[in-house]
Amino acid sequence: MNALHRRGLMFVLSSPSGAGKTTMSRRLLAEDPEIVMSVSVTTRPPRKGEIEGRDYFFVTDAEFDRLRDSDALLEWAVVFGHRYGTPRKHVEETLARGRDVLFDIDWQGTQQLQQTDAASDLVRVFILPPTMAELERRLRGRGTDSEAVIAKRMQRAATEISHWGEYNYILINDDPDRCLGEIRAILKAERLRRKRQLGLANFVRDMLA
Ligand code: 5GP
Repeated sequence: MNALHRRGLMFVLSSPSGAGKTTMSRRLLAEDPEIVMSVSVTTRPPRKGEIEGRDYFFVTDAEFDRLRDSDALLEWAVVFGHRYGTPRKHVEETLARGRDVLFDIDWQGTQQLQQTDAASDLVRVFILPPTMAELERRLRGRGTDSEAVIAKRMQRAATEISHWGEYNYILINDDPDRCLGEIRAILKAERLRRKRQLGLANFVRDMLA
């Protein structure tokens, strides 16, 4: 069966920051060679420990304008006063190779992808924290943000969460291992969808011949 050509899918993971999404995406990417991260461009300055080309491509406002105006971005949005966007070329090339693409983007970007021709390739997963109190605890646990920033993040989290109804799958991350298991299960099932198994008609025809 593996020899059959497969159509790649666009796997979106959205969540408020602090819900555990980054850790889970890293683990998924490390264990599954068939899925590749879409690295976004952003005008926000790098945080400590972030690596150019792994976490983001950090660009100036002028460079972002140029990318947006030349249609090089599949979607883009303003988050916390900075712009973020998905480079189109890498996504299209990866899908064409029959690989899946993982997106860590917000609800605004997810809505835009849903409005493109690629909507049928899209699988939208939303990760909820178990409670708002737990989310706040995790945000504080990072120990990097001021009270004002935490309050802002909590406010933004509430907005992000209010868009849960626009996603295909909703996971509650009260146990990261179980949550990752659920993500694997979704990915596996979506890959087996008839429309994504391109060689199936020929396979069945030959089998019956
Ligand atoms: P952070 O600055 O904490 O890395 O990301 C802030 C938010 O921006 C997160 O919710 C993340 O999912 C979202 N984000 C990151 N890259 C993109 C992108 O290319 N497009 C959109 N729409 N959102 C993004």
